[in-house]
Amino acid sequence: MHAFKRGPSPGCLARYEPLRDLWSRAVQDGCARIVREQLVESQHGYCAYCEVRPSGTRGPNSGWHVDHFRPKSSFPSLAFSWHNLIASCQLSDHCGNFKGDRFDAGLIDPSAENPHDFLALGGSADIIARPELCARCTKRVNVTVEMLGLNRARLLIRRRASMKELLALADSQQNLDACLAVPRDFRTLLANLFHMDDSPTQCPGCGGNST
Ligand SMILES: [Zn+2]
Ligand SMILES: [Zn+2]
Repeated sequence: MHAFKRGPSPGCLARYEPLRDLWSRAVQDGCARIVREQLVESQHGYCAYCEVRPSGTRGPNSGWHVDHFRPKSSFPSLAFSWHNLIASCQLSDHCGNFKGDRFDAGLIDPSAENPHDFLALGGSADIIARPELCARCTKRVNVTVEMLGLNRARLLIRRRASMKELLALADSQQNLDACLAVPRDFRTLLANLFHMDDSPTQCPGCGGNST
């Protein structure tokens, strides 16, 4: 999961009236495509949830899905809200598929919070809660990992391969900074692998007391 900042809202979203219009209208009108393109750009081409770089087989944008962070079925008033939209991967076992219409108030929003404050990479390339987190933030990580399927088999395989490559590179170059500058999937999570925190008494998620 990777933090990102949205640019200004695409003007076409203002054409729609939530509760009156359906999202399918924005898809038909081409507004959903504009939204998707702007999100993909601000997310630097990575799925904001699983950090895979989707590569569509039917054109450069076919591997993407516009996800309603708060599902439009439960939050119809946010159907056209720019701050509720996130581009996620649209692969066979994609993130939107895992999330579906589910939502939990504890779900980490990568556009509003920094996932680095919450997530760490475990020894078997699984995503785990950072050990310094308080109980409440740890629960939020568990909900996020489960709801988005962040430890699904395909991702574990890719992460393990990336870890192996990176460790080999670090070994041969003995220059960790240069290695981490190499753009690749899961680069942020790999950076976490080497993360050392010197203030373990404070929860990095909420700033509260860790204990
Ligand atoms: Zn994804
Ligand atoms: Zn906390």
